[in-house]
Amino acid sequence: MEQSKMPSWLRKEVMESGDCTRCGLCVGLCPYIKTQHEHVAFIHDCSRVDGNCYRVCPRTQTNWVDLDRQVFGTERTDHGLGNYLKVLYARSLNKEITRAGQYGGVVSTLAAYMVESGQSQAAVLTRGEDNGPPTPYLARNREEVLACSGSNYSASPSLSILNTGVFEGLEDLTTVGRPCQILALRKMQGLNEASQHNPSARKVNFMIGLFCFWALETEFYSFLQIKTEGERILRLDIPQNYLVATTEKGNVQVPIDELRAFVRPTCLRCFDPTAEFADVSVGSTENDPEWNTLVIRSSKGQEIVNRVCTAGLLETKPYPEERLPLLLSAVYKKKKRVLEGLKQGKGYMYLNLNSDYAKGIEEGGTGL
Ligand SMILES: Cc1cc2nc3c(=O)[nH]c(=O)nc-3n(C[C@H](O)[C@H](O)[C@H](O)COP(=O)(O)OP(=O)(O)OC[C@H]3O[C@@H](n4cnc5c(N)ncnc54)[C@H](O)[C@@H]3O)c2cc1C
Ligand code: SF4
Ligand code: SF4
Repeated sequence: MEQSKMPSWLRKEVMESGDCTRCGLCVGLCPYIKTQHEHVAFIHDCSRVDGNCYRVCPRTQTNWVDLDRQVFGTERTDHGLGNYLKVLYARSLNKEITRAGQYGGVVSTLAAYMVESGQSQAAVLTRGEDNGPPTPYLARNREEVLACSGSNYSASPSLSILNTGVFEGLEDLTTVGRPCQILALRKMQGLNEASQHNPSARKVNFMIGLFCFWALETEFYSFLQIKTEGERILRLDIPQNYLVATTEKGNVQVPIDELRAFVRPTCLRCFDPTAEFADVSVGSTENDPEWNTLVIRSSKGQEIVNRVCTAGLLETKPYPEERLPLLLSAVYKKKKRVLEGLKQGKGYMYLNLNSDYAKGIEEGGTGL
């Protein structure tokens, strides 16, 4: 799976082509890659003949079958959701978290549990800022985890803070990330021991993936400032066909059509809306804001969810049968579009699927 290519190719193929997902994992791997606001760029030419930055990037060649084998020890049978053990509804049983959380607060509950119980020394999160792009954040206690609750709809390169934490000597880290971020971490975990540079992803002991169908450009925040007349934004949500910004003076609604200009083009090429390689993936339910959709994927994910439920911090219930086709339909729709682009050679070359996987998408999702 490992590829040897020059860092200058990362610059050319991914960053300059606009395909960077802003996962942030290459940031800090060498002194030459930095973030400015949410942009990721080389600040100096690099003449190395190979580099981990290229290998771990979610927009360089990624072999889906190899990753399934690496993470789950098996290929998938479900081409919509990938490998998983269970799909459930879940929500926090802690009032403070349900108040602060985006929906059921499942992500904050799991991250807070890992940090409070000492199973992780910190959690790699994204902290919302008043009216501007969020900041990557290393939360070392429950209060800090809660301060990061809520969704920020731009592509924060939050994995940059993972590298910082590891260089500071942190050992075990829970990481919350968008699907492209989880993909980057798994690619890094798959590198040979012999690979140079610090394989930060090996220090991640629990990966919580978020559902994500697209993220917005940073310029979205300036647009929102105008819409909200500079009011302090307390919460953002995208319930149906509009965005709701909650300010101290009330809610401001923005039709989804007005957001389209800010959707990042690389997100239209994204093949993984449900964080298929995470230990657990969490999304909305699309019909009940007090609950989350929780996909338990790995045995580690199952163990941790069991412990959190036993501790009385989280409750789950079966996923309503009639709603699963709706989730699958949205996922297949996105994947089919991406596969079509791949076939037409429209710059989707990062995606390396075998014929079974491609067929699974082509034939899946019909009749849902
Ligand atoms: C860009 C984006 C797009 C999304 N699109 C969808 C979608 O189409 N469908 C869907 O069902 N769900 C989507 N989600 C997930 C959803 O918004 C919730 O994050 C998820 O349901 C978890 O809810 P919760 O109540 O458990 O969250 P909380 O307990 O409030 O925790 C939210 C966590 O998200 C992290 N976070 C916030 N913003 C970002 C960011 N930009 N990048 C990385 N991490 C972040 C925070 O660190 C926090 O830990 C999206 C999330 C993001 C960030
Ligand atoms: S590793 Fe992540 S941040 Fe770096 S170029 Fe690739 S997508 Fe962008
Ligand atoms: S749509 Fe894909 S590429 Fe875009 S932020 Fe979400 S996971 Fe990353």
